[in-house]
Amino acid sequence: MTVRLFRSKKATLYDYGPDHPESPDRVYAIEDQLLSSGLDFSCEHQDAEPASIKHLLLAHSFEHVDGLMTKSSVLQPDETVWIDDDTGMTKDTFEAALLSAGAGVNAVDWVMAGNNRHGFCLTRPPGHHATKDQAMGFCFFNNVAVAGYYALSHYNLSRVAIVDFDVHHGNGTEDIVSGDERILFCSSFQHPLYPHTDIERTASNVLKVPLDAGTTGNDFRQKVAFWFDELATFAPELVLVSAGFDGHSEDPMAHMRLVESDYYWITQKIAQLAYNSSNGRVVSMLEGGYDNSALSRSVVSHLKALMAY
Ligand SMILES: [Zn+2]
Repeated sequence: MTVRLFRSKKATLYDYGPDHPESPDRVYAIEDQLLSSGLDFSCEHQDAEPASIKHLLLAHSFEHVDGLMTKSSVLQPDETVWIDDDTGMTKDTFEAALLSAGAGVNAVDWVMAGNNRHGFCLTRPPGHHATKDQAMGFCFFNNVAVAGYYALSHYNLSRVAIVDFDVHHGNGTEDIVSGDERILFCSSFQHPLYPHTDIERTASNVLKVPLDAGTTGNDFRQKVAFWFDELATFAPELVLVSAGFDGHSEDPMAHMRLVESDYYWITQKIAQLAYNSSNGRVVSMLEGGYDNSALSRSVVSHLKALMAY
């Protein structure tokens, strides 16, 4: 299976300092593991282009997009504006956010141009906490939602699946897609944990799986297994993934006990679903993962599973 990495030239150009977990070292660690594993040589590569305003408005309000653009336009080169306690924006952050969202659009274009294509967007900032109107939780634009709505509109698709296995709930994605029956959104997350959203089902197209602290890989597999029955019935024409690896047992941001083989397992399930229903088309986008060694090893497992199927 062909796997193409969509890279962002700005992904390592903003840094909030040594105490902030969303660090350029995350990307450096992944790049290092890609080289040492040999995956860098077996994957194809493409530089991401920035998302256009038109693409961003598929998932966000005009006020949100315009507000961030205005904030960015008055920033001095070394200045950071804090949108909340965790989410700071520099000029480079804003340009990186456009590239993170654009990577998803580029990846959708690439997978839709053939069969059995798997794209992975190796970008930062992540996206799944960004709501229609609000940047939060290190996220500015909801990359996976922009990609989903771009696929639906530009390729005239009817059904897109989004699978989010980040340890935090994809509240932004839920905010944007809830009630839209063209998208089936499956999200597992530790509960209680940031962003502390309601775990009750809000719409029939949202399948939430709250997980206790200490959840093991076997528990995780059992609890999300039903997704794949629902997804098979839904029969998506494209499968998108919010790939966060902060549920790893070594991650400092949460308390789950997943390991690399669990990420391999769920990625295989996703690839199998795509093979059966969407001509093998998968676009996966990096979300969280804050222990750099565990993150980079987990990304290798994710990509190996994408490559194998
Ligand atoms: Zn996360």
